[in-house]
Amino acid sequence: MRIRLNIIMKLQFVMLGSGAVRDNPHRGGPSQILNIDNEILMFDCGRSASTNLARTGIGCEAVDRLFLTHLHFDHIVDVPYLVFVGWIKKRKNRLQIYGPNGTKDFVTKIIRPPFQQDIESRLKHGKDITLLDPVVYEVHQASQFLLANRYQISSTFIDHAGIPTLAYRINVGNKRIVITGDGIPDEKFPEFCHGADLLSIECSGTSEFLDQQAWGSWHIGPADIAQIASEAGIKIVIIKHLVIEDITGDRTIGNSMAKQIQSHYSGEVIVAEDGLTINLS
Ligand SMILES: [Zn+2]
Repeated sequence: MRIRLNIIMKLQFVMLGSGAVRDNPHRGGPSQILNIDNEILMFDCGRSASTNLARTGIGCEAVDRLFLTHLHFDHIVDVPYLVFVGWIKKRKNRLQIYGPNGTKDFVTKIIRPPFQQDIESRLKHGKDITLLDPVVYEVHQASQFLLANRYQISSTFIDHAGIPTLAYRINVGNKRIVITGDGIPDEKFPEFCHGADLLSIECSGTSEFLDQQAWGSWHIGPADIAQIASEAGIKIVIIKHLVIEDITGDRTIGNSMAKQIQSHYSGEVIVAEDGLTINLS
């Protein structure tokens, strides 16, 4: 019997965009990548994701799979740019996009109809249409939905703003990474994250701040993150999507929230910055 071993040489997480909705000049919109032996998986594709990707030395054409957590504009506004530049730069394989219910409709509407004149003009100059349109898969259930050679991806749902919102768990060899978009996880979430080496999770504001916002109940704060991280035995927590920083202008608030988490959790807490890189291999 032959046993095939998939030994992973490189497993790297890069935070491309640590920001949220607003045009914070210090932070791009939500996006991060996992580089698994130079196979590039992108999670969310917010403002400046493609530019921040290029800053890591990786081009749009190199993204193999894109996973969207939900269809709030701040998480998806760079999708057409990623698709078109990948096409212009002659990607080798069709981009695969995964996301919640509504993703097919979004991608169909955002690529061809608004850019019809652009596409036609490039075709007249010899561009090949074959690899323009992404293949889209909608994730309708909380389950393992992708079994690739080197990794497995599972999803769970998060309560967020009344729209379908996913979190993703990536198992690579003996490593486990969990990436959320926005929202408040349910009581089964610690089990979903159990033993994760890395949890990349939104932290939109302190509970006092969130209580004052009309949309505050859509988001999670430091106390709940600490509880999840402790219960699940997470090794490293990265907090991102710091809406409170955008609104108050306080650039130290991320560190304060990290300290709050740290006071109830014994693992490591990192406040995300664009370009933050964690080597997990
Ligand atoms: Zn959202």
